[in-house]
Amino acid sequence: MAKYDYDLFVIGAGSGGVRAARLAAVSGAKVAIAEEHRVGGTCVIRGCVPKKFMVYASEFSHHFKTAKSYGWSIEKASFDWPHFLEEKDKEIARLSGIYVRNLQNAGAELAHGKAKLLDAHTIDIDKVGRRTADRILIATGGRPWMPAELPGVEHCITSNEAFHLTELPKRIVIAGGGYIAVEFAGIFNGLGCEVTLVHRGPNILRGFDDDVRSHLTEELEKRGVTVILGASHTAVEKGAGGLVSKLSNGHECESDVVMLSLGREPYTEGLGLETAGVELTGKGAVKVDKFSRSNVENIWAVGDVTDRINLTPVAIREGQAFAETEFYGRPTSFDHEMVASAVFSQPPIGSVGLSEADARKQYGKVDIYLARLKPMKYAFSHGDERALLKLVVECETERVLGCHVVGPDAPEIIQMAAIALKMGVTKPQWDATCAVHPTMSEELVTLREKHVPIGLGQVA
Ligand code: FAD
Repeated sequence: MAKYDYDLFVIGAGSGGVRAARLAAVSGAKVAIAEEHRVGGTCVIRGCVPKKFMVYASEFSHHFKTAKSYGWSIEKASFDWPHFLEEKDKEIARLSGIYVRNLQNAGAELAHGKAKLLDAHTIDIDKVGRRTADRILIATGGRPWMPAELPGVEHCITSNEAFHLTELPKRIVIAGGGYIAVEFAGIFNGLGCEVTLVHRGPNILRGFDDDVRSHLTEELEKRGVTVILGASHTAVEKGAGGLVSKLSNGHECESDVVMLSLGREPYTEGLGLETAGVELTGKGAVKVDKFSRSNVENIWAVGDVTDRINLTPVAIREGQAFAETEFYGRPTSFDHEMVASAVFSQPPIGSVGLSEADARKQYGKVDIYLARLKPMKYAFSHGDERALLKLVVECETERVLGCHVVGPDAPEIIQMAAIALKMGVTKPQWDATCAVHPTMSEELVTLREKHVPIGLGQVA
């Protein structure tokens, strides 16, 4: 008789949980996975995937403008929001179905309901009942953080609701300066809404390279997004003409929708982690070691709930490393260095490695190579959109420490650059790469002149 019902019980069928459950089940282990919402998790249901569909939908307006400069006439372009929502939801349902089938085909059991720990080996699943497991994996992800004390917070939405608005707003105020706020600013702007982005910091996209941050702010403004920096919401009120955002700088702006995108928090509420003795960080994330193991010997955690790098591919790789270690006898830890990321803003960003500021802090002397250019695609248009390409190179070893691109296809470009940076490419090796012509990314391999940032004089 087995001591427990399962060898592995996974809580949360998102990116990390599904990968771990599937691999563990394929190894022959008896596996169950609980999901309180829809299989696929944030990425598939209310994150990366539907967001990217919205980005695609919204980019057409910009393409139409460019098309005109190439001789096309597009007189009656119009956008049907309900049609878009229907198509998006169909595709999301299809993808979620694939996740369910993959789990089933691997032999994992799916339990629909909110799961919570009763002790280190016992899980209670809402409307399903109690189950026991030898090992437990917490993969519950994150959720939008809401400032409960903000007067009028109940009038606001988060990214979760932005995917299901029954009507496309004419005016939207987005609070926040992170990648989700910036991406939705581009989406709603592209779909014809009047967008105001309100961020309390001195610039958007904290953590990204400073040149990237200021470049994107300029480009957003060129496309018609109003960016208000150094201000935050003090209240949101219902007025006669819509919602009124009261800001800390004394300004007020009226809109149809106020979206709060003020960060995300690990989703551990009601999980019973304290009952099982699982330790959390100060930010409420599950504290884990490099093998994603918590302080409780038989409990692990992967993905956003651990608040390491909160991206889908990272959650997947952490889930995979856990399964390889525990069910295939191959101790594996995911390396969180040099993880490339993209912001699907308009224009988009691709970034890998260190920002200039972080590189200076860590390595002292660095060389900067930087180009700003008009993307060839816009050669005929009178708009003044610019792309930015930047390399951060360690002086002593000539190792490329960071690569940052803002412009068309930047996320696609950075995926390839990430391979080179992960391998420790040096600037001479980078330069030895022959350009692909005519492309925007060829500029990256032809950057020869060192850039001296304003204010730094000759200090490399
Ligand atoms: P999740 O995918 O969040 O899955 C957790 C699952 O656990 C959820 O389905 C949840 O319902 C379930 N759950 C939680 N608690 C319980 C419980 N007690 N019982 C049962 N089930 C439970 N990342 C990228 O890499 N690229 C992007 O472009 C990108 N865009 C994003 C856009 C938005 C708007 C958002 C919000 C996120 C985006 N992300 C993106 C981040 C990405 O979605 C997450 O990093 C990823 O989904 C994390 O995976 P996870 O497995 O940790 O958790």
